[in-house]
Amino acid sequence: MATNTLDDRDADDYSETESALETALRQLSAAATQVDVDDGVIERLKHPTRVVEVGVPLKRDDGSVEVYTGYRAQHDDVRGPYKGGLRFHPDVTAEECVGLSMWMTWKCAVMDLPFGGAKGGVVVNPKDLSTEEKERLTRRFAEEIRDTIGPKQDIPAPDMGTDAQTMAWFMDAYSMQEGETTPGVVTGKPPVIGGSKGREEAPGRSVAIIAREALEYYDTDIGEATVAVQGFGSVGANAARLLDDWGADVVAVSDVNGAAYDTSGLDTHAVPSHEEEPEAVMSYDAPNTLTNEEVLELDVDVLIPAAIGNVLTADNADDVQANIVVEGANGPTTSAADTILEERGIPVIPDILANAGGVTVSYFEWLQDINRRQWPLERVHEELESMMLSAWDDVRAEVEARDVSWRDAAYVVALERVGEAKSSRGLWP
Ligand code: GLU
Repeated sequence: MATNTLDDRDADDYSETESALETALRQLSAAATQVDVDDGVIERLKHPTRVVEVGVPLKRDDGSVEVYTGYRAQHDDVRGPYKGGLRFHPDVTAEECVGLSMWMTWKCAVMDLPFGGAKGGVVVNPKDLSTEEKERLTRRFAEEIRDTIGPKQDIPAPDMGTDAQTMAWFMDAYSMQEGETTPGVVTGKPPVIGGSKGREEAPGRSVAIIAREALEYYDTDIGEATVAVQGFGSVGANAARLLDDWGADVVAVSDVNGAAYDTSGLDTHAVPSHEEEPEAVMSYDAPNTLTNEEVLELDVDVLIPAAIGNVLTADNADDVQANIVVEGANGPTTSAADTILEERGIPVIPDILANAGGVTVSYFEWLQDINRRQWPLERVHEELESMMLSAWDDVRAEVEARDVSWRDAAYVVALERVGEAKSSRGLWP
């Protein structure tokens, strides 16, 4: 796959790589061989509880009407309400939502959160819509899936193409229809209406924490470490800046247009993130530039793919020269690439651990909403740090005890927790 940019892949590129669902099912089967969980439970976990499909009509600014398709996939809720993001992206499919909802089940279980897994979205390119059109689309989508979600049933959050503002509109639409302000129906809201401080930067912060722990585990001093980050949105930019603050040299960061590259380390705070100025990484005055493909092949201590899924594939995994890969995006490594990297001895710290800070602070937000009491930022940081370290320890213990990859170890931790919950609750009726 020879691409310079992250967004210009056509349908053929996708058909060459496996779907999120195929990857998720393959990972579940691999983990199932490692754990003592009943076959019936594994079988149940291969299927989502439900996938809701809705038509979402939108009156465009020019008066014409278009109907978009929206989905909400709910995978499993044995440990608590369904939880997971909503994406606005042209490649959203029912199947992709199911695969991503499974990852949310494992992610919440690895973090030991009292949530199950869900994911949803609308098949739309948000770049084609005005702000007003995005607001109308979000409100109508909220209405169409209102019966499916709720603070005790299923709690959406931001994902690709959606943000705190999207969640504010969503929460408002839901609350208006319910007749009461219901902040706990979504997380990732602006703090002024019940969002948590630190939620926005949380996925990137957890990626940085896990990268720091991985460097220490593999005996590399963070002050001597080099880092390359693909994607400079919320996850990539926050991870890059924290690692930079903690002494690492972030030598390359990229967006859809390519990468800024400086072997002596970029000033990551001076590179505009997607939120600050979309697609402006190349406006930073770097000594060198690279393509996105070249970023993945840099000889660095830590490579963080933090843009989209399926960027590390059978085609380029042999060319990866990083010592450690820490997954910032959901599903950036295909199964084929995973196998190649494992054979080459390059550890891949999986998304369901590394970027789980997002849903963890979502959990804090949900608690704050229920209690109607906001936490100070310091408390969010402290509790996130301690939950990330405890999940890291749980996964590390399985890596050492079973001599398996970090991904398999994370799945073992998650599957044991979900499996035990399913066995002890039993099958109804
Ligand atoms: N969309 C984020 C994820 O993939 C966050 C989900 C959440 O906070 O519920 O983890």
